[in-house]
Amino acid sequence: MNRWVYRFDQVDAAEEAVGGDWQDVRALLGGKGANLADMTRLAVPVPPGFTITTEACNAYLAADRAFPEGLEAQMADALAAIEEGTERTFGSAARPLLISCRSGAKFSMPGMMDTVLNIGLNDDVVKGLAQESGDEHFAYDSYRRLVQMFGSVVLGHKDELFEHVMADLRQRRGVASDADLTVDDLKEAVARFRAVATGFPDDPLRQLRLAVEAVFRSWNGKRAIDYRNAAGISHDLGTAVNIQAMVFGNLGDDSATGVAMSRNGATGVPEIEGDYLVNAQGEDVVAGIRNTRDLRSLADEMPAVYQQLLGVSNSLERHYRDMQDMEFTVEQGRLWLLQTRDGKRTAQAAVRIAVDMADEELITRREAVRRVTADQVDFFMHPQLSMQSKRDAEAEGRSLGKGLNVSPGAAVGVVAFEPDLAERWHNEGRQVLLVRPETKPDDVHGMIAAEGILTSRGGRTSHAALVARQFGKPAVVGLAELHIDLAGHVMHLNGTTIAEGDWVSIDGNTGEVFQGRLETFVPDLSDLWLVKLLGWADGMRTLGVRANADYPADAERARDYGAQGIGLCRTEHMFFESERLPIVQRMIMASNPTARREALDELLPLQRADFRGLFEAMDGLPIVIRLMDPPLHEFLPGWEDLVRDIADQKIRLRAAGTLADLDDTLAQLEHSETLKRAVERLRETNPMLGLRGVRLSIVMPDLTRMQMRAIMEAACEAVAGGYTVIPEVMIPLSVDKSELVFVADLLRVEAEAVFAEMGVTIDYQLGTMVETPRAALTAGALAEVAEFFSFGTNDLTQTTFAISRDDAEASFLTNYVALGVLAENPFATLDDAGVGALIRMAVAAGRQARPGLETGICGEHGGDPASIALCHAYGLDYVSCSPFRVPVARLAAAHAAIDEAGGTAVVTD
Ligand code: ADP
Ligand code: MG
Ligand code: MG
Repeated sequence: MNRWVYRFDQVDAAEEAVGGDWQDVRALLGGKGANLADMTRLAVPVPPGFTITTEACNAYLAADRAFPEGLEAQMADALAAIEEGTERTFGSAARPLLISCRSGAKFSMPGMMDTVLNIGLNDDVVKGLAQESGDEHFAYDSYRRLVQMFGSVVLGHKDELFEHVMADLRQRRGVASDADLTVDDLKEAVARFRAVATGFPDDPLRQLRLAVEAVFRSWNGKRAIDYRNAAGISHDLGTAVNIQAMVFGNLGDDSATGVAMSRNGATGVPEIEGDYLVNAQGEDVVAGIRNTRDLRSLADEMPAVYQQLLGVSNSLERHYRDMQDMEFTVEQGRLWLLQTRDGKRTAQAAVRIAVDMADEELITRREAVRRVTADQVDFFMHPQLSMQSKRDAEAEGRSLGKGLNVSPGAAVGVVAFEPDLAERWHNEGRQVLLVRPETKPDDVHGMIAAEGILTSRGGRTSHAALVARQFGKPAVVGLAELHIDLAGHVMHLNGTTIAEGDWVSIDGNTGEVFQGRLETFVPDLSDLWLVKLLGWADGMRTLGVRANADYPADAERARDYGAQGIGLCRTEHMFFESERLPIVQRMIMASNPTARREALDELLPLQRADFRGLFEAMDGLPIVIRLMDPPLHEFLPGWEDLVRDIADQKIRLRAAGTLADLDDTLAQLEHSETLKRAVERLRETNPMLGLRGVRLSIVMPDLTRMQMRAIMEAACEAVAGGYTVIPEVMIPLSVDKSELVFVADLLRVEAEAVFAEMGVTIDYQLGTMVETPRAALTAGALAEVAEFFSFGTNDLTQTTFAISRDDAEASFLTNYVALGVLAENPFATLDDAGVGALIRMAVAAGRQARPGLETGICGEHGGDPASIALCHAYGLDYVSCSPFRVPVARLAAAHAAIDEAGGTAVVTD
């Protein structure tokens, strides 16, 4: 017969049943159950209990909600074992055993599934509990909690109905807290609750049975499904159910309940942190209904317990080799652990914790590097509020208050009080800030849609904080002065009233809240731990990382971020600057060689100065400089604009009042007409397949010579200034070896001329971009001339797919991906099957023709982690990406190397 039940002290048997793999134990027992059993084995104090497997859940759901055969009997046996261990009896009034029924899937889904506490109470048992504890208040409070939780979770009655009763009782008694209600009040609460919770069973075994079924069913509840969709968790895992003896944090002032993180989840500081409540039970802490205390004060209030908790925290960290998020309860001075799992953390904390743990030798440096994700590194590049706009806001009295800083980064948006509204506004393209008293699992869609989250209640471990961190949303919670009037669609904060739809800015790093729309900026990567981690990554990767940079300032930034050179400098970008464009236009429109020469002579010193700056910024590192690439019409105004200008100028000509005016307008008109003629001459039906790339270099040899002269003169000057230069001159869009032969001859002659004039010789390489299928197919021949290849994967994708990257997304590509016709947008992630095949072929043929041929990629894909892994597999020498992606690329390249080496893949959830 199938085994559906494992006691917490039977983890060895569970391990054996699945073949020893811990991930499989987690799949069978759920994360919570597996770790409860694991802690039991480690001799951490855990109340006894057992786990009903995920297989039982799946069997139950598959059988249309029928208990699988044998489950009932196995549960009875395991329950008997708890009774024996606790010397208590389930359903008996003498020394009653109470239990909790808790869900727990393989991956932690905070707040998604339902838990029922205090199962086993009824009108008889509660009397026994009161007598035994000598605390009627406690007994009836436990009972009313059971009826409430059972009523809402299992029987599906509205929780508000119960809350109304409590509010009514508090008002009548004139107290603010449930804890201040009298025993009679609580007895009345129970009676009124039971009237609401029709169907509440008196039989404790029936309570247990129904609760287990409710957990099974909650796997397919809407909020669980939504969460799994958002978090990418598979729907067929099922949930386990944990049945556990209750321990009570609400047995007086020497009792407490709380949550603790073994390290700070926001910053990563290696200090235990958390919240707790004295004389309280379970969910009170997470729900954010009472204001919690900082865990540090437990050190004064219950020093022995605090020390013990520190010890447990340390040993759990050592055991799981990761930061732990723990639930604990203190029952009359005695510590119990109720849960541990790998803690959620911000990107900053993830980096710091990984680095610290490697330094503490809890994990290897490889593991540290592998644990941090590309997205987490990317986070460091995300917007933060600018200091100046914060100061301005403060000076203008728009600083509204300060809550808990639970998830960093800046969020600026219009206030929405309802998750549905947040989602709708987001879909309409607005930036939204979700503001709530507290958040619940039903709110997750609104949280995902929002730029950030602000709540008036809750602590560091509240639902809002956990979800915000997981999805990388800046969040400020527990801002007690914030009063939200949901019905009136306004909020009041320290004297300021803000309506739904008004702009508010929050700083998730500090907890500050501001009225209005503050400016944001992208931070520098100066985080010490990140610098260290990326340094380790550099030592592990074999793939080089360069940057695409056109200006000295970009080059400097790229270098700061760790680029090992420039993989692509687009020379034409320098041509677009306003004072240069007219010269470029003159060069393009020149009707005779002399006019063109004159324009080129003007451009030469400008280009030379740009290149000089680049060489100096990248002292000692290679720079790939690409010759002029785009179609010339890009440097000229649009035809329609010119036609309109000409019409205007003709009208002005007629109206011209003075001779000077007339002259002026005539000159403008003439210029416009020349431009228009040039535009008409250069017009192409398919400019992307037209006069561009190497074709320009061949058709306009003067331009080619000028560019080479500028590069080499700049290089000679830089060398004279003491710099080391490594120029790599790149010919774009070649399709045939003969093109390269033609242009290379021009370039070499010009370079030699410069060297002779300057009395300096520079080592340089001539190479080509491989960005057409024909270039890839004839790569062997190209490599006879080209000394390096750079795969221009934007054009290579465009030309391989025959999909225009400028038009396709709007017209059909997005649809293609949505329909699953294409699994991925090939312009975002490299197409391994097609484009990748061409790259592999070209690398092999190129290296055969020229051993040691340098190869790299310089398309958008160079900054995409999945594409970087492919580039590693193709054996490229480097990827080149935007300076802001360089840190991500360094990490992704290290991941590729680690994974290839069979790495130490560490799964974090
Ligand atoms: P969640 O997954 O929502 O955290 P849990 O099953 O962990 O749900 O339980 C909810 C709350 O009830 C937690 O605070 C937990 O510590 C508390 N709790 C669960 N079981 C027990 C128990 N046996 N004794 C005391 N408190 C419990
Ligand atoms: Mg829960
Ligand atoms: Mg829990």
